[in-house]
Amino acid sequence: MVATYEQLKEALQDHRKTLLAELADIDSRKGEQMIGYETHQADAATRAFDQAADLALRNNTAKMLREVEDALARFDKGNYGVCQGCGDKIDIARLEAIPHTGLCLRCAETRDFRANRYS
Ligand SMILES: [Zn+2]
Repeated sequence: MVATYEQLKEALQDHRKTLLAELADIDSRKGEQMIGYETHQADAATRAFDQAADLALRNNTAKMLREVEDALARFDKGNYGVCQGCGDKIDIARLEAIPHTGLCLRCAETRDFRANRYS
């Protein structure tokens, strides 16, 4: 199946909704964790672990949401599907796999390489 830009936009809007719901869910969980106090050492450790996992999940979800919103903003600006790195058109099959991507495969590989190297 080859997607159209319109379908990709719809997929991004759906994805955005899902991510917003996930963030709300994580935040409501955080609220619950604040209530009450520790009665057991193991509970405290488990809770600390859960909070760290939630924080990591929240960061990842927020980061993904930013990328999805950036992609939707590019639709508004009329340059969706154009590589932010080199200005070439991004392959439609790549957009279908990763609708929020702003980079062509070549630029993404370069960027991933840098990210791995400096992280
Ligand atoms: Zn590129």
